[in-house]
Amino acid sequence: MVVPSDNPSGVAARRELAVRAALDRRPLTDEQPLAALLDLDGVQRTAGALHAAFDAVTAPGQRVLHTLAVKACSLVPVLRLLDGLGVGCEVASPGELALARAAGVAADRVVLDSPAKTPTELRQALALGVALNADNPQELDRIDALRAEAPRHGPLGLRVNPQLGGGSIDAMSTATATSKFGVALRDEGAREWVLRAFRDRPWLTRLHCHVGSQGVPLDRMAAGVRETYRLAEEINAAAGRAQVDTIDIGGGLPVNFASDAVDPTFHDYATLLRRTVPGLFDGRYGLVTEFGRALLAKSGLILARVEYTKSAGGRPIAITHAGAQVAVRTAFVPESWPLRIAVHDATGVPKVGPRVRQDVAGPCCFAGDLTARDRLLPRLVPGDVVALLDTGAYYFSTPFAYNALPRPAVHGYSVADDGSVSFTTLRHAQTLQELLAEFGGGL
Ligand SMILES: *Cc1c(COP(=O)(O)O)cnc(C)c1O
Repeated sequence: MVVPSDNPSGVAARRELAVRAALDRRPLTDEQPLAALLDLDGVQRTAGALHAAFDAVTAPGQRVLHTLAVKACSLVPVLRLLDGLGVGCEVASPGELALARAAGVAADRVVLDSPAKTPTELRQALALGVALNADNPQELDRIDALRAEAPRHGPLGLRVNPQLGGGSIDAMSTATATSKFGVALRDEGAREWVLRAFRDRPWLTRLHCHVGSQGVPLDRMAAGVRETYRLAEEINAAAGRAQVDTIDIGGGLPVNFASDAVDPTFHDYATLLRRTVPGLFDGRYGLVTEFGRALLAKSGLILARVEYTKSAGGRPIAITHAGAQVAVRTAFVPESWPLRIAVHDATGVPKVGPRVRQDVAGPCCFAGDLTARDRLLPRLVPGDVVALLDTGAYYFSTPFAYNALPRPAVHGYSVADDGSVSFTTLRHAQTLQELLAEFGGGL
């Protein structure tokens, strides 16, 4: 049997093979009724698509550094895998920087972007030589002082907010008029301040923007990159030299959570960027990208056992082991973060049969702990297994410690062309001992 990997039905077929093999070889137990899977071939394919998309629009020899926004999948083996595939790390905290270093990612493939960097963090970043984007004038003042102690440092830049407006999810919209990120370019006097900041600091060589994540329309993202490019041109014209040599365009490519189709693609976005900001692709500027969700979401899934089924007010409810602890956004903002749910019997065979409207709930003790509401699915029974699809970014890798629920194991999988499945551990399940330590046990 040959299972293709380059079309949606092939991807779904491979996923079902992996679910079957996972439940066969690592069945869900009372101790571990929840686990996550990551399709390593899918990650490789997606990283390849990212490279190909930008290779197709950049000038020969143009410098491009692709990074993963580590918050999207903060697992060291995943960072190591992506680094091997030519995708470095965008980090936003001392912890994320430590993860990137633990994965062996070289300093010149790391970008630090947090809005709240402490002096210690700035000092470490300068000493390591990672690229660093200052978020605001006060941070830039700190860097002025710290540079005196760190004569050698990595590339330094400034994050700007083109204030173009948000998208359909407020919490994901970073380019609104009052966003907390970057220097708000349209505020009175801000543009002049940026021009002076670059004039006074010849070592400031990058501009950074990240206009938004899920829910922001592609043309708005591209317009944000265009505004940033125009500012770079203005700074360079004023300097009479190519002072800004690199533009970091951030991430934000949205993900289709409704089917297995990849839409939009990296190719769509790169092509739109090339059309919107042609000057960015003539080879004068280096480029940095920081995609997160689009690199990983569609390669991950969460498997959870159905523990009980019941009914309330005429609504069937399946109580599973996956809820807010692995699907925070879906539980708290369900209208913005709907997930596909695939249902299987205990051995991983997809369930068929008449579909009925039911709620799929998690184990947490609050009423909103649902991963699906009033969803048409084959009727679930205890022992069945639900799969929350497209959860490779910002779900199992960014757990929520509510109810002292442990972090589930994450297994990477690869499906050979003959359909055989191999697994590798990306994170072991948190033990009770580790959990106690996290919550002050032993103090
Ligand atoms: C979160 C974030 C990203 C990644 O966003 P995605 O929507 O996951 O692509 C990139 N850059 C910065 C600065 C971010 O905060």
